[in-house]
Amino acid sequence: MSASQPTFDLVIRHGMVVDGSGRPPYRADVGVRGDRIATVGRLDLAESVVSLDAGGLVVAPGFIDVHAHDDEAVFQWATCQPKLSQGVTSVVVGNCGISLAPLSPKGELPAPLNSLADPGRFRFATFSKYVDALQADPLPVNVAALVGHGTLRVRNMEDFSQAATAAEIQAMVQDVQAAMAAGAVGLSCGLAYPINRGADTDEVVALAQAAAAHHGLLCMHIRNEFDGVADAVREAFQCARRSRAFLVLSHQKVAGQANFGRSLELMDLYLREGADIPFAIDAYPYAAGSTMLDPFYVANSRQVLLAWSKPHPEMNGRSLDQISAEWGCAQADTIRRLQPAGAIYFDMDEADVSRFLSWNRCMVGSDGLPHDEHPHPRLYGAFARVLGEYARDRGLFSLAEAVRKMTSLSASVFGLVGRGLVQEGCFADLVLFDPTRVQDRATYTNPRQESGGIERVFVNGRQAWPLPPDQSGCWGRFLAGRGMLTPRHPEKVEDSVRPEI
Ligand SMILES: [Zn+2]
Repeated sequence: MSASQPTFDLVIRHGMVVDGSGRPPYRADVGVRGDRIATVGRLDLAESVVSLDAGGLVVAPGFIDVHAHDDEAVFQWATCQPKLSQGVTSVVVGNCGISLAPLSPKGELPAPLNSLADPGRFRFATFSKYVDALQADPLPVNVAALVGHGTLRVRNMEDFSQAATAAEIQAMVQDVQAAMAAGAVGLSCGLAYPINRGADTDEVVALAQAAAAHHGLLCMHIRNEFDGVADAVREAFQCARRSRAFLVLSHQKVAGQANFGRSLELMDLYLREGADIPFAIDAYPYAAGSTMLDPFYVANSRQVLLAWSKPHPEMNGRSLDQISAEWGCAQADTIRRLQPAGAIYFDMDEADVSRFLSWNRCMVGSDGLPHDEHPHPRLYGAFARVLGEYARDRGLFSLAEAVRKMTSLSASVFGLVGRGLVQEGCFADLVLFDPTRVQDRATYTNPRQESGGIERVFVNGRQAWPLPPDQSGCWGRFLAGRGMLTPRHPEKVEDSVRPEI
């Protein structure tokens, strides 16, 4: 390199580096060359094409949303804006048993697949075709993908309300093998859902074994998050033990008023059942959930808001009680008239939410639903809310720990090599935010609000948010499963620690 050429493509000066490992913040400049972090240190005199003053800002690794439903949203910058604007640079799609691929359905889609995208967007008959599309052009964010058990049941079964036959299990196992070979990071299940509920433990184990044989994970939306939550967690651990897959317990919660406080019981269960099993959990920072409109969820909630309704979009954002009153309908009739539909359910206790999030093996996942017309605010706010509300304002954990839950822990669990740390040689996925101002702004009544305090976001060394003029803002890549090439055990995790909440 001649002396006249700049040494770096980008230098971020005077920032406070929160490097993702959990170590305390420290002052350093960050030099980027191409798509990689070239140096972290003093770069006072270094030449660079672009130089940014990050005085007063935190420089952190781009956040990883381990629980995303952006299977279709990742094809456009605009539909990734909810994620980029809160600092997310990588997403794991295909959660809860519902993946966009492999499925090309004829006619209507059963719930909850219909909350992922319109039927016409399910256009990938094989998982490798989906991967081809993800690799065809740069994406707004980096994408790792799970293959969904529910999707495979709808694809392969005559009657997916039942247990699968041996032949149907064999067909699904082959689909899992094909998805893993194409680069999936694992299998997701949504045993609480009608399309999945008919599956017994043996069926899940057979599919999870196929994923584990390719070193894939098993991500479980467990069978029951209400009264039967403990048995459902036990079943998930049993699936992991028998299949030898790394287990991720998705969006951990205890729902329904009778179960408030049972997070303590679940954490004891994690330690007992998970003593010999590699596993982690994810959670989002809200005491309300969101999924398909279902009478059972309605009956167990304090309040219900409509997120979308095919026949009655004019009611989106209204409460079910208001709609019933306006229509002069019994609740059951209102629910029937609104279908197909999705809703937001106030069915958790804040202390449980705080406890799960504070647990040292808990990653942050938004569970955001980008296809919803009146989405749960977690779509736009989850990551900023953990930083602002939970870490800074309530002091539940340090800023460095909050960032670790969104970066290095997640990258380690999902085998995302070279992501999740501000460190020499890592990919330059970076977020610059103001630690005094970072805050979610999305609310239940006004959910499409970008978070405050997020200043800039870089994906693979290029600015992706705010969108620079004359640029696509799409610098993301498909992240293929890397199997056992990467460590899967979260490092230095003190199993005995239970948060004091
Ligand atoms: Zn789920």
